[in-house]
Amino acid sequence: RKPIIAIDGPAGAGKSTVTRRVAQQLGLMYLDTGAMYRAITWLVLNSNINLDDEAAIAELVSQVSLELTPQQIKINGQDVTEAIRTLQVTASVSAISAQGAVRRELVKQQQGYGQKGGVVAEGRDIGTHVFPHAELKIFLTASVQERAKRRLQDLIHAGEKQITITQLEQDIQLRDYRDSHRQIAPLQKAADAIEIITDGLTIEDVTAKIVSLYQE
Ligand code: C5P
Repeated sequence: RKPIIAIDGPAGAGKSTVTRRVAQQLGLMYLDTGAMYRAITWLVLNSNINLDDEAAIAELVSQVSLELTPQQIKINGQDVTEAIRTLQVTASVSAISAQGAVRRELVKQQQGYGQKGGVVAEGRDIGTHVFPHAELKIFLTASVQERAKRRLQDLIHAGEKQITITQLEQDIQLRDYRDSHRQIAPLQKAADAIEIITDGLTIEDVTAKIVSLYQE
C-alpha cells in the first residue's frame, strides 16, 4: 500500500503550497480538503438556502457531485477553483464545516481518495479523524501576524482590493477560535503529529523538512 501523509494546521500557515510541493516531489496525489468545504459553502451561498438551515444543506450535500484534481475543483459540474477563494466564502466556511451532515459526507469522500494510499492531504482533522493511520502526520503553524501577511499576498494576487492587514489578523483569530472550539472535528494536533512552526522558514525549507521526515 502506498503511504498517506496528513498535513493539518490553521489557516495561512502555508499548508496549501507546501502540501502541493510535497505531493509533487514524492509523486503522490494532492488532496485539498479545505477546498471541498469551500465548494459546499459556495454552493449554499449561490442557492436559496440559509447558512444555518442544516436540513436543507444536508439534503444538498447528499446529492452533490464534487470533482477534485490537484489543479481544479468542480461542484455539480461547475468549475469553482477561483470562486471558492473569495472573502465571502472564507467568512462563511466555518459555519458550513461545523455541520455534521456536511462533515460525514466529505470525510467519506476524502477517505475514498485515500483508499489506495498515495495521498498527501491537507486540512484540519486529517491526522486526527480522516486518516488516523497516516504514515506521517505534520502539524503546520505560524504566528497570526505571519499568517495574515501571507493571506494578504494571496488576496492581492486574487484581485481583492478592500482588505487591510488588521482585518485579516482579526479574521484569522476568529476563524482559529471557531475551528478549534467547535464541538465537531475541532482543529487539534494529533498526538503523533510533528509540529513545524513556519515563521521565518521558506516554502522550500518546509517542503524539504517534510520530505526528509518522510524518507527517514
Ligand atoms: O484550508 P482552508 O482555509 O481552505 O479551509 C477552509 C475552512 O474549511 C477552514 O477554516 C475550516 O473551517 C474548514 N475545514 C475543515 N476541515 C478540514 C479542512 C477545512 O473544517 N479538513
